[in-house]
Amino acid sequence: MASASAKVKQRTSTDNQCSACYSEHIMVIPKARYIIMTSVLPLFVTAAIAIIFHLLFLLFIPALVWMNVMIAQRKAPLVVCRECRHTSKGSVPV
Ligand SMILES: [Zn+2]
Repeated sequence: MASASAKVKQRTSTDNQCSACYSEHIMVIPKARYIIMTSVLPLFVTAAIAIIFHLLFLLFIPALVWMNVMIAQRKAPLVVCRECRHTSKGSVPV
C-alpha cells in the first residue's frame, strides 16, 4: 500500500525536527514527565476543593491520575517545537 510507505517516510523525517516548520529546535517530553505535567495542576485544584468543601473530593484524584495516564499513553512521547510551539507525537518509544 502506498499509504503505508508514506507513513514510514513521515515517521523517519519527523524524528529530529518539527513536523510543521522543520525546525530542529525541538523538545521531547517523555511519558512520565507528561503525566506529571498534566496531573500536578488538577491535583492541586482537587486537593484545594477537597479542603474547602469536602474530603470526599479526594476520591476524584485516582480517577484523575488514571485519566492522565491514559492520555499520556496515547500522546507521549510528546515533541514540542521551540520555534512555532507545534506539538506532535514522537516516534521514539519510551
Ligand atoms: Zn515548528
